[in-house]
Amino acid sequence: MYLDKDICKEGNLVLRTKCIEVNIPLNSNDESCLIELYQYLIISENEELAKRYNIRPGVGIAAPQVGINKRMFAMNCVDFLDEKLTKYTYCVINPKIIAHSNEMTYLPDGEGCLSVTRDTLGYVVPRYYSIKFKAALYDLTTKKIKYITKTLEGYPAIVFQHEYDHLDGILYVDKMVLPEKTTAIPLYTIKSDEEEN
Ligand code: ZN
Repeated sequence: MYLDKDICKEGNLVLRTKCIEVNIPLNSNDESCLIELYQYLIISENEELAKRYNIRPGVGIAAPQVGINKRMFAMNCVDFLDEKLTKYTYCVINPKIIAHSNEMTYLPDGEGCLSVTRDTLGYVVPRYYSIKFKAALYDLTTKKIKYITKTLEGYPAIVFQHEYDHLDGILYVDKMVLPEKTTAIPLYTIKSDEEEN
C-alpha cells in the first residue's frame, strides 16, 4: 500500500510530465498501481486507519503522484450537495474530457492535493461546472474493464478535473486565483458559524 512517503511532492518532475496512455488489458504492474491508488483513498477516509498509517485524507489520487507516468487515477468522493449523497468511486484509465459547460465554478474553501504541502488558503481554482468524459473504468470486484461515457456535475466534476490535470503535469496551484479575480461562481456558500446554529 502507498504511504505518505510514496507520494511525490511539488517540485518532483514526475508531477510535471505528461503521462502516457495505459495499455489495455492492464499489465500486472499497472493493475496493482490502480488498486493501490484506490486502497489509499479507502484507508484515508477512515480516520482511525489514516491516523495509524499517518496518511493525509484524499478524494482522488493519480498515478504520477506515486511516480508512475501513466494515465490513470482513482477517485472516491461523496457529492455532499446532493440530497442522496451519491458516492463517486472510480478507477479511471485513459480518460478524455470530450465536452464541458461554459459555466465555471470553484470550491469556496479552495482545493487541496496530496502532492502539495504548502498553504494555499484564500485561493480558489476555477473549474467547469460540468464535464462529459470517456474512459475505461476498472471494476474492483470483477477485475474487468468497461468503457463508459459519462457526465459529471458540481463536486465530482471538480474532483475529476483535478485528477485529470495531474495526467497532463498540471497542479491546482497553477490554476488558483483569488476569488475576486474570477467570474466563476462558487459551488456553494460558506456558512458562517452563526448561520449554522
Ligand atoms: Zn492532486
